[in-house]
Amino acid sequence: MRWEGRRESENVEDRRHMRAGPMIAGGGGIVTLIIIVAAMVLGINPQQFMANLPQGVPNDPAAQVEAPPEDDEQTKQLKSFVSVVLADTEDVWNELFRAQVGKPYQEPKLVLFSDSVNSACGQASAAVGPFYCPGDSNVYLDLTFFEEMRAKFKAPGDFAMAYVIAHEVGHHVQNLLGLSMEVQKQQQQASKVEANNLSVRLELQADFLAGVFAHHAQRTKEIMERGDIEEATNAAQQIGDDTLQRRMGAGRVQPDAFTHGSSAQRVRWFSKGLKSGNLEELNQLFELPYDKL
Ligand SMILES: [Zn+2]
Repeated sequence: MRWEGRRESENVEDRRHMRAGPMIAGGGGIVTLIIIVAAMVLGINPQQFMANLPQGVPNDPAAQVEAPPEDDEQTKQLKSFVSVVLADTEDVWNELFRAQVGKPYQEPKLVLFSDSVNSACGQASAAVGPFYCPGDSNVYLDLTFFEEMRAKFKAPGDFAMAYVIAHEVGHHVQNLLGLSMEVQKQQQQASKVEANNLSVRLELQADFLAGVFAHHAQRTKEIMERGDIEEATNAAQQIGDDTLQRRMGAGRVQPDAFTHGSSAQRVRWFSKGLKSGNLEELNQLFELPYDKL
């Protein structure tokens, strides 16, 4: 993928050096109390002691701040890459919303984290993989996931990474269009199997929207190089949500539906979006019979 030298998004929020803590109000109070007690035992004025603490530690229940180490060259590159891809999605979706949806696009934030993070959807472990939380309109991403994609999921390549980001932004687009809400409503009255099928439709639609993004980014910026389409379709094949769910373990969050389409379906819908770039086709995901997807 050609990406260097393009605009980087300002919507990337780096929380990699914040530890996700318990989301209980006053959680930091215990720490404060212990420090005051310890200070009194030592005969030190607690006020003085508190003033010397690094900012944000005792009273911020959500985070403990560590001095962020300098990123190595590879990580810096990766962060730039993510910021450029996010900026590309902003450009494409701003234009498509203006021209076809008739309301302005609200750009999502992309939160970088490591190990675990607090979102409006709950605390999530990096093991859940990248996810979108409709509650705060943020995309959450641990950069080490890309290394896993290459090594574990056999889905290497920068365009494979761009596809993953575009898929999560696709969930944001669904949220803005009210589609996720609509599906959620339908799921409440559906049987377990039907609810599951609706989740699959929503996931495939996010793949389709990733394809639509790629189509327009290519049209306006010629972002693709030889082999890029193969990288993305291979990734669509290799990283189904089922694979991610199996690795979930400690994650408590249910960020987006963890049910998925088959590899063939995921490739088909991404490719369809990529080929046509036609946003109107997104309704097909909910109009076609389930076995025709
Ligand atoms: Zn998804």
